[in-house]
Amino acid sequence: MHKRLFIPGPVEVDPEILQACAVPMFGHRSKEYETLHGAVKSKLRKFFGTEKGNVFLFTSSSTGAMEACLRNLAGKRVLSCACGAFSERWGEMAPENGKENDVYAVEWGEPNRPEEIDRRLASGKYDCITLVYNETSTGVMNPLAETAAVMAKYPDVSFCVDAVSAMAGVPIEPGKLGIDVVLAGTQKAFGLPPGLAVAWVSDRAIEKAKKIPARGHYFDFLQLKKYDEKNQTPETPAISLIHALDVQLDRFFREGLDARWARHRAMAESCRAWADRHFKMFPEKGYESVTLSCIENTRKIDVKKLNDELGKRGAVISDGYGKIKDRTFRIAHMADTKPEDLKQLLGWIDEILKL
Ligand SMILES: *Cc1c(COP(=O)(O)O)cnc(C)c1O
Repeated sequence: MHKRLFIPGPVEVDPEILQACAVPMFGHRSKEYETLHGAVKSKLRKFFGTEKGNVFLFTSSSTGAMEACLRNLAGKRVLSCACGAFSERWGEMAPENGKENDVYAVEWGEPNRPEEIDRRLASGKYDCITLVYNETSTGVMNPLAETAAVMAKYPDVSFCVDAVSAMAGVPIEPGKLGIDVVLAGTQKAFGLPPGLAVAWVSDRAIEKAKKIPARGHYFDFLQLKKYDEKNQTPETPAISLIHALDVQLDRFFREGLDARWARHRAMAESCRAWADRHFKMFPEKGYESVTLSCIENTRKIDVKKLNDELGKRGAVISDGYGKIKDRTFRIAHMADTKPEDLKQLLGWIDEILKL
């Protein structure tokens, strides 16, 4: 039996989207591809709420686009903000790509604080910063708007944001926020299968990339830009997924973006209320994620056993991640998940645990 996924990626994919992946192939240098590419790009511009900047499609998981930020935008020194496993990994990727960096780390469960970022950037040592918007390992949502307000003071510092588990679950307006790159993989709040990443890249970032040596080949922003002008990609893209993204963006607009954000907020609130009743939320209050709930396992339940029982009913949740693997468990409520799906899941958990 298929188990409905309440894990933070890959997420449950709607049958209409699975169908949309099954299109007959066409060449990536064909008119058909250019039409598809152009259509997806203009829908993504509408989604991001700006005609400014660039929209790139990366045929890789999100990590490829994270690496691209470092390769294209880190010249002098990177400030790597870390508040959990994924942001720590971005910090490790800087030296792996030959870039010098310092890590600004907080305790897991806490956010990276804008005033601390400000204090570090004031040193003048940095020309690039990496920040994870929604830290999927801890369920913390960093204060993006407040951080963006700080970043406005540092126009020469490239502002790179991993919104992997946030984008398409909460509104992100990169043009207004003054972000240089905001990226996400499609297997999280977009509700597509894995294998494609989407990024909005500022014109300022493209100009900076021209001055950065050894940008690599596959993720070179200048190559992506050059081909994008012809509605193509430098190498063969994941055509099936791009087609599915086209269909999914239409579904977003049919639902209405505001309705989509409200649906995600409502699910987060009901999951949080349930967790407060029976357990405890892991993140510091006020910084809880909208797309997934990371819950402290205060009752010491056996998450594996719970999942075995949920599996019989046709659902699966996630254990913790990294060093809090055994202390927490996670319930994702993103993409095409509906409030009634979540309600049914929480009802099953109540029944299994006799809460
Ligand atoms: C899932 C995730 C990643 C890694 O994404 P891949 O698509 O597996 O490369 C990075 N950052 C965050 C915040 C994530 O949730």
